[in-house]
Amino acid sequence: MTATLHTRGVAELGRLLAAGEASSVEITSHLLARVSKYEQLGAFLYVDEEGALAAARAADARRAAGERGLLLGVPLAHKDIFVTAAQPTTAGSRMLAGYASPFDATIVERLGSGEPGGTPGAGMVTLGKLNCDEFAMGSTNENSAFGRVANPWDATRVPGGSSGGSAAAVAARLLPAATGTDTGGSIRQPASFTGVTGIKPTYGVCSRHGMIAFASSLDQAGPFARSAEDCALLLSAMSGFDARDSTSAQRPPQDFHAALSKARDGASGARPLAGLRIGLPAEFFPAVLAADVDGALRAALREFESLGATLVDVSLPRTELSIPVYYIIAPAEASSNLSRFDGVKFGHRAAHYADLQDMYRKTRAEGFGAEVKRRIMIGTYVLSHGYYDAYYLQAQKLRRMIADDFQACFRQCDVIAGPVAPSVAWPAGTQSADPVAAYLADIFTLPASLAGLPGMSVPAGFGDAGMPVGLQLIGNYFDEGTLLHAAHAFQQATDWHRRAPQGFDA
Ligand code: GLN
Repeated sequence: MTATLHTRGVAELGRLLAAGEASSVEITSHLLARVSKYEQLGAFLYVDEEGALAAARAADARRAAGERGLLLGVPLAHKDIFVTAAQPTTAGSRMLAGYASPFDATIVERLGSGEPGGTPGAGMVTLGKLNCDEFAMGSTNENSAFGRVANPWDATRVPGGSSGGSAAAVAARLLPAATGTDTGGSIRQPASFTGVTGIKPTYGVCSRHGMIAFASSLDQAGPFARSAEDCALLLSAMSGFDARDSTSAQRPPQDFHAALSKARDGASGARPLAGLRIGLPAEFFPAVLAADVDGALRAALREFESLGATLVDVSLPRTELSIPVYYIIAPAEASSNLSRFDGVKFGHRAAHYADLQDMYRKTRAEGFGAEVKRRIMIGTYVLSHGYYDAYYLQAQKLRRMIADDFQACFRQCDVIAGPVAPSVAWPAGTQSADPVAAYLADIFTLPASLAGLPGMSVPAGFGDAGMPVGLQLIGNYFDEGTLLHAAHAFQQATDWHRRAPQGFDA
């Protein structure tokens, strides 16, 4: 059994641990060996062998003392955008090379050992930190200062981004789960590109404390795993009010896992999704949508129908506008957030400079990569006097209208379905010459981000070249439960989420 531990998901490992059939030390050692075997994927930026084995021993001790949690002793790794006291944090940037945080991000604490001296956490074991686009800006992981990440389904293709390391590690069975962040699609799109399950909750559900800020009004944390059930387990542990994040939602903690098995009102035993109305926005199925993606999604939607759901036509008329709106608001916020990286307080400082201004200038020129610099410049421009009204203010007004469009849809349906991305994962290197092409490919993930709504990617089949296709489900505010329930019912009836890329399946 030990030889196949990497094929097990979070809940399965939790049950093995509970039954005493495996120890956390065994599971952790097995996965650490796998991480080093597949180092060439580029998924990890830092592997913490010693820390992981110590955490595994601590989890085994907690279990021996009678603790029962399903996550206790199960390994994971964090996107390198979450600060960790035990491992270095880089945000995929040279700017933060060598940076050591004095504290853990809230979600790291909650999933791990808990607040120092406070409530114990879920007891998951952190194996290390995962590669990502620099400061989470990108859709391919090619903007990382520390190298690209291979897509386990085809090493010549991108894994998606910005949480590319998280998605690739879960897809390659290096880990049963990982954390990520999603500002404009960075959980959903890499999940879709690598055939894993990922959910971005409603803005405010997961604390942003200790998550290096990109665009604060959009940034949200969430889990990657190989099933909706496993995502539900992680999200239950990660989410909940945190006084250290002023935008954290003040709501009672939710057990998303327990909610999975609850029948929907009016659902009969044989048809688990009876009564569920799935809205299909016409704008999410344009003629330019790749035929292979369209075909896989249509087949998946027929499966949802056979599970009892009904499909209704809805409209999100401002879908296309979400691209310019997002690419004004996100860089505006980024230009402000990234001003703290000036060589004084965090990370890199230029070695030679004439005076203070020169030190700032050289530090930022050396520390930031091209995409980050581009965004700082765009953001500074749209916020500057004379342009603020024409760009930033207009974008904010449209953002509200985009959110209102969703509310009009939710009067007709319970969840919205569509593609995550207009195509399957593309070959590495294709978009580096044209950043705008990458921005355009974000069209289906940006609307829910701007509205602050929860969205997830569910493996829904395969397209050209055998690459995975994800179905995006978008829910109303704080209705993650319905998304996870629908995805879980779909996964009980299909096995797309169980398919492993060749070479990583045994
Ligand atoms: N691809 C989008 C961008 O480049 C989204 C990134 C994200 O969600 N962090 O901004």
